Amino acid sequence: VKYKEGKGWHDAKVTARKPLTLDPATAVLHYAQEIFEGMKAYCTENGGVASFRPEANARRFRASAERMAMAEVPEDLFIKAVDSLVAIDRDWVPSGEGQSLYIRPFMIASEVFLGVKPSSEYLFIVIASPVGAYFGSGCVSVWVSDDYSRAAPGGTGAAKCGGNYAASLVAQRESKHHGCDQVLFLDSREQRFIEEMGGMNVMFLRDDNTLVTPPLTGTILPGITRDAILQLAKERGLRVEETPIDINELFEGAANGRYREAFACGTAAVISPIGSLKRAEGEAVFGDGKTPGEVTLMLKKTLTDIQTGRSNDEHGWVHRIV
Ligand code: PMP
Repeated sequence: VKYKEGKGWHDAKVTARKPLTLDPATAVLHYAQEIFEGMKAYCTENGGVASFRPEANARRFRASAERMAMAEVPEDLFIKAVDSLVAIDRDWVPSGEGQSLYIRPFMIASEVFLGVKPSSEYLFIVIASPVGAYFGSGCVSVWVSDDYSRAAPGGTGAAKCGGNYAASLVAQRESKHHGCDQVLFLDSREQRFIEEMGGMNVMFLRDDNTLVTPPLTGTILPGITRDAILQLAKERGLRVEETPIDINELFEGAANGRYREAFACGTAAVISPIGSLKRAEGEAVFGDGKTPGEVTLMLKKTLTDIQTGRSNDEHGWVHRIV
C-alpha cells in the first residue's frame, strides 16, 4: 500500500514477492525512517488459521509511526493487509508443534530527497514466511551487556523501529562471542536495572510465587506476549510485579534461590526458558541451568493452547483469518 501526503493510502495490492526498486536518495536509506511489526498465524484445532491479538500490533504500529513522524496506518487497513496476505494460500501456514507463519508488516519512508525532515511518501508492505521454533527445546543462555544500551529515556525504545535493532547488533555479536544465544540490556543511566533482550521481554519468578518484569517506562518495547502472560499469570494465581529489577540483586537472588525461574517472551520466542545469565564478573544460574522451570512451562502451555485453539479463547485474543 502506498501513501502520499494529500492523497492518503492508495494502490493496495497483493502481489508475488519481488525485489523493491528504490532510488539511491530514498529517505529510508539515509535517515532510517522505518518501523515494523512481528506477528504469527497458527493453524488451529478446528482446521482454521488465526492470528493473535492483531489489533494490538496495529495499535503499536500506529504508536511507532507517531514516534517516527510517519504516516499512520489505520488499524483496519493494517489488519486487512495482514489477513489478505495470509488468506492467499491456506497451505503456507504450517501445522505441527511450534510451527507457524511469521508475518512481518513494515513501513518505509519512500520519498526521494536528501535532508533531515519527515518524508511525505511511505510504503506499507507485509511479507510472511513459515517458521519453526525460534530456539531449540532447551534453555537459552543470555549475556548481560555492561557496555551497550539499547535505548535511552526520550529515545525510541518503545517504538519498533529498525534503528533500535541496528544499535543492538554489536551487543548481540558480543553475546555470541561469549557463547550465549541472546543479549540482555540494562538501563542507559546506571547500567543497573534490567530492560529487555535483543528481541524479547524478560520475566523472573521469585520464590514467593511472584512473576517480576521491568515496567514500561518508555525505553522497552511493550510486548504483546508480555501483556498476555501477565494477565494469564494473574488468572493462574501468581502475583505479578512490574518493577525495576537490579541486576546485582538478581544475581544474588539466583545464587540463594530467591529467583527460581527466568524466561524470555515475544512473538518469535513465545516463551523460552533462560538457563543462565552471564556477565563479565560471574553467572546467575536458574534451577540446574538446563531444565525449564515448572511455572515457565505452565505459562507456555497456557499461552500456546489459546493461540492454537486447544483451549477456550476467553479473552477474545484469537483472530480467525481462514
Ligand atoms: N522486545 C523487543 C526488543 C522485541 O523486538 C520484541 C519482539 N517484537 C519484544 C520485546 C516482544 O514483543 P511481542 O511480544 O509483541 O512480540
